[in-house]
Amino acid sequence: MYIKIIYVFVYCLAAGSIFITLNYISRLKKSYALSLKKAMIAALVAIIANIAIALSFNELTAQTAYCFYFASIDWILFHLFGFCLSYTEHDEEKHRLKLPAFIVMSADNASIFLNIIFGHCFYIYRNYAHSTVFFQTGFLPMYYVHLAIDYVAVLLSFIFIIYRIKKNYSFYRTKYILILSVLLLVVALNIIYMAMSLLLDASVIFYGVAGALISFSIHTFVPRNLMIESIGTAVNEMNEGLILFDINDSCIYANDFAVKHFGIDASCFTPEDEPIATVSRELGSTSEGFVDHTWEIEGSGGSETRNYRFKFKKLSDSKGRPICSYYMIEDTTEEVSYLNQIKEARENADYANSAKSTFLANMSHEIRTPLNSILGMNELIMRSSGDPLIRVYSMNINSAGDVLLNIINDVLDFSKIEAGKTEIHPHDYEPYKILRDCFYFFEMVAEKKNLYLHIKCDPELPSGLYGDSRLIGQILSNIVSNAVKYTNSGGVTLDMTFDETGKDSLDLIIEVTDTGIGIKQEDIPLLFDSFKRINEEQTASIQGTGLGLAITKELVALMDGSINVKSEPGKGSCFTVILPQSVSDHSPIGPLVNPVSNKIPKYKESFKAPDAHILLVDDSSTNLMVAEGLLRTTDIQIDKALSGDSAIERCEHFKYDLILLDHRMPLKDGIETFKIISSSGLNTETPVIMLTANAISGMEEEYKNIGFCDYLTKPINASELETVLMKHLPKDKVKLTS
Ligand code: ADP
Repeated sequence: MYIKIIYVFVYCLAAGSIFITLNYISRLKKSYALSLKKAMIAALVAIIANIAIALSFNELTAQTAYCFYFASIDWILFHLFGFCLSYTEHDEEKHRLKLPAFIVMSADNASIFLNIIFGHCFYIYRNYAHSTVFFQTGFLPMYYVHLAIDYVAVLLSFIFIIYRIKKNYSFYRTKYILILSVLLLVVALNIIYMAMSLLLDASVIFYGVAGALISFSIHTFVPRNLMIESIGTAVNEMNEGLILFDINDSCIYANDFAVKHFGIDASCFTPEDEPIATVSRELGSTSEGFVDHTWEIEGSGGSETRNYRFKFKKLSDSKGRPICSYYMIEDTTEEVSYLNQIKEARENADYANSAKSTFLANMSHEIRTPLNSILGMNELIMRSSGDPLIRVYSMNINSAGDVLLNIINDVLDFSKIEAGKTEIHPHDYEPYKILRDCFYFFEMVAEKKNLYLHIKCDPELPSGLYGDSRLIGQILSNIVSNAVKYTNSGGVTLDMTFDETGKDSLDLIIEVTDTGIGIKQEDIPLLFDSFKRINEEQTASIQGTGLGLAITKELVALMDGSINVKSEPGKGSCFTVILPQSVSDHSPIGPLVNPVSNKIPKYKESFKAPDAHILLVDDSSTNLMVAEGLLRTTDIQIDKALSGDSAIERCEHFKYDLILLDHRMPLKDGIETFKIISSSGLNTETPVIMLTANAISGMEEEYKNIGFCDYLTKPINASELETVLMKHLPKDKVKLTS
């Protein structure tokens, strides 16, 4: 009895394995998977039939179970044959043979089941073994017909597989041999069963094993081997080197790249050989990482220098134990040469940029120096002449000079912004003063064109703000000057309001509205492009560089603000600038007192200092004359020097209250002269103010770093000059006049 139990148990295991295999096969999408699946289902029926045979209690049940068993063998082989045809890519043959094979198998099945009635295929007899009854079959001639049909199916399957094995090569041959071996195994077991008249058929157990093996072959073995094969080829052909070492540092693989570039022979290569010896020395023995190296390699056209990047990596198993290590070698020659080119291009660009800065500095100097004389002299004429006509001429010279100065300033400002050298210097300021200055500056220009200039301000605006008032003034002056320039009738309104954004912060809103020529909608996006002038038919006669709004936009962005334009051709434009500012004094600014008009300005010095003694140093006698003239009404005692050497000599004998020193002078320049004066002698403590035509970016900081207490740019503005002098002259020697 225990034999039957063992058989049934093993049959159940086989059935279980078929279930698992079936699940596995269901995932395969290929055409042959369906045939294999059906063969497996037939195998399941065969196993169940064998369980029924083992458990049969009389001849009839045994006979019925045998019928199912023999019939299922037919269908196993039918579908296996179909599988072999599909798997060996004989789909056309499969299509042709399917119907005849189906008819033959069905006829054989009919014959088998009719055996229950006619008993023409096999008979059942009882066999007592191990004190248990087994129902076994004795075979009649018709059974051998069934056997022949089955073996023909097996044989045909073999033929198609062998044909494929013969036609294919390498890996594909292996894949067919694997299937053939599995089928042979099952057939061999079946033959053993029959030849030895075993009590029960053990071969069905292997149906499950065979199914599992075939599925494994299709699902795992074949793709994995294909992958290994193709990855191997790809690694060998890739444009990077790979050298693989095992745990004992024996080289187990070097791809074509490594062989070609470094002549590595994997069979005898060690980490002590070059290039790995040098690379691992640089990496240190244990660390992973990469190093860049330049190597001489022998090419077809002689030796050449190439750059490589060596990457070293160690591989470990899941428990962190080392398995192997490898070096990847990347040829970086082109990358390095590309980077060198970029570096060179950048150096050239830097050089060009610094050449541009030098050019701008020189240009600024060259233009400002004579302009200083022109405007300075003109200022003296304005101050001294009582003749109204001469004053008008002189005013005209002054405004032309201002225009010229604005152009130079625009170009310089733009180059400063481009070089990223414009910085915000925030401080406490009164917004009222910005409006007032703007009004003073443009009032006359507007009046000349018969335009009104209205200044409005929200009375609730805090009277003290914190930000860079100089930059805000510059923004305002660019926009208002455009508004005046591009308006022929009507006028310009400047309105300052605010939006509270926090306890101590607000958005300062500046709106400049004009009734001018306006801007076409499609031109608005081009407004802020540098050197771009729009609407040229109308604006050709108006002076401009096309830089003002480009500078304005950059300055607004620098202050994290925004600028907006609304315009209608023929009606006018409205520029709105919003700038975030902090509040330093919350008291409201109140109603705006109309700024005092400064039309036809009547000069009056702001202080007198008859006891102060200063030294003026400039290589241009005209400039000396201008500065002296500008300071005449202050009664300051002035000594003059036309060179650095003469200034040094004077300083050896006299202690001055202040020195105004020109930057660019032949022989000893201002900086050299300053260093000598301030290092020894009587004037080491004397405040020295740099006078310069060099208004290029970053100079302010540079002069202060050297030790100058302040600096003034040429052309010298009279009121700026007085302000600076008031600040640095000894307080007891300065008497304010107002
Ligand atoms: P420009 O030095 O030419 O004035 P801007 O950058 O300041 O350069 O201005 C660019 C162009 O935008 C000007 O040439 C002008 O055509 C146009 N533009 C600027 N402001 C106004 C305005 N308020 N009304 C009409 N056109 C304007």
